Amino acid sequence: MPVTVVIALGSNRGDRGMNLRRAVDALSPHVRVVRVSSVHETAAVDAPVGSPAFLNMVVVGYTSLSPFALLDGLQSIEEGLGRVRGVRNAPRTIDLDLIFYDALRMRTPRLTIPHPRYERRRFVLEPLAEVWPGVKPARRCV
Ligand code: ADP
Ligand code: MG
Repeated sequence: MPVTVVIALGSNRGDRGMNLRRAVDALSPHVRVVRVSSVHETAAVDAPVGSPAFLNMVVVGYTSLSPFALLDGLQSIEEGLGRVRGVRNAPRTIDLDLIFYDALRMRTPRLTIPHPRYERRRFVLEPLAEVWPGVKPARRCV
């Protein structure tokens, strides 16, 4: 049985809007996307001073993949769109974070669900509220 998943997307390098569109398209083998938020422009947070602003959005969809198989899929999309890993929080063509996987809660070195920082990130919470009503921001947000 497919499960509902919520994925946050962000880009602050290259043609940011096109990166988001290409990433949403590239989700199709992994996730059947059923809701798409608007695109929000946000100043970079949790990132080096002077980092370019992000475009962020959140999508909701259905998947038949396990959490780890889905993370593999998300990371292959990041690689396909030219994301270079290594420098922590460096500008990235695309970042795909798994926010929710149904009601699952798990914590492993490679994957934590719900995403460990989403409640404090306005750039996730604002688009999330458009497609996933009822989510309340934590007291202190960045
Ligand atoms: P961030 O998204 O925090 O800016 P990265 O995209 O570089 O940083 O991800 C760092 C690592 O976070 C990934 O290699 C992945 O294994 C791990 N990770 C843990 N939980 C999640 C999650 N829910 N969604 C995406 N990545 C996750
Ligand atoms: Mg990420």
